[in-house]
Amino acid sequence: MAARKPDAANEHQATIFVFGTKLLVTLRGIDAATAQAATAKLEQQFQHMQRNWNAWKSGELTDLNQAIADGRSMAVSPHLLGLIEMAKRFESLSDGLFNPALGGIVGAWGFHSDERPMGYRPDLPAISTLALRKPTMGDVSIEGTVVACTNKWVQFDFGGFAKGVALDLAEETLKSFGIQNALLNAGGDINSMGNGGACPWRISIRDPKSSGVIAVITLAPDEKIYTSGNYERFHEIDGVRFAHTLDPRSGIPVDHIISATVIADSGALADATATALTVAGPRDWHRIARKMGVKYALLVDERGGIHLNPEMRARISFSSDRAFTLIESPPL
Ligand code: ADP
Ligand code: MG
Repeated sequence: MAARKPDAANEHQATIFVFGTKLLVTLRGIDAATAQAATAKLEQQFQHMQRNWNAWKSGELTDLNQAIADGRSMAVSPHLLGLIEMAKRFESLSDGLFNPALGGIVGAWGFHSDERPMGYRPDLPAISTLALRKPTMGDVSIEGTVVACTNKWVQFDFGGFAKGVALDLAEETLKSFGIQNALLNAGGDINSMGNGGACPWRISIRDPKSSGVIAVITLAPDEKIYTSGNYERFHEIDGVRFAHTLDPRSGIPVDHIISATVIADSGALADATATALTVAGPRDWHRIARKMGVKYALLVDERGGIHLNPEMRARISFSSDRAFTLIESPPL
């Protein structure tokens, strides 16, 4: 960890590997010793979350998934309980488009691995049988710390919002160290904390099709901005790309190539909504964004068209060297 600029002597940066990406932590307004101690604590916490929230490596979540498959209920830790409660809420808010109960189907498509699946042949009849069992968060009930489920085909996969939840928890940790200004950037999924101190947090919205930038935006204090996309994680069968985001209504990967960027007050909501809007696509995103209660959203469709609400339009500056087709929606 090192101070970056002479004029920002109390800005500290560190990199942590978490959920398969690099998390860049920027802390402002504190001394180096506090920054170091806070970063070490974050590292420890993320390791714990990675172990216990992974849908395919043995930990608390896989134990719970096994219990559900066996028709047993199970007492879980407060963290996992919180995740399940949020998952239930977001599934219902998203009209079922965000559905973290479809882990069995995500796995059957070959996405439960650290590598992009190559040459994997999904068992399509098994997938459609699973989809017909309609696993949803509505099948799951919580009593005290005990999780029970009436549908043994439910398998939790929190990949659609675990990063957001993790960065929200990281904020709590940073606050416990007296830190007021921080930026947590996990590959373009960002939690900002405070107003940035000396200068506001200014960040780029990546172009999902290239390594370039579509636009830049200045975040208001404490805002979170998340992007979900199916340009990057997919696998190919006979030349056809299958996205890692599934349409819960069919169990089939979404057939439009899209990325969705959402600004919200919590990382969990921003991440879950970005995933839901990826499923909703250009035709239905506005309804779902409104239902989930977010005020700013932007989608890039497969032709490069940008769909956004006027409030989002007013906040961003587009990259000047490119022409964009803007499709502006009614206000959210
Ligand atoms: P990224 O930010 O990497 O694009 P997302 O936040 O969109 O990822 O989450 C995609 C992940 O969420 C998938 O890899 C899978 O684990 C899970 N998932 C897939 N489809 C859904 C869905 N409809 N609802 C909730 N989670 C999903
Ligand atoms: Mg997401």
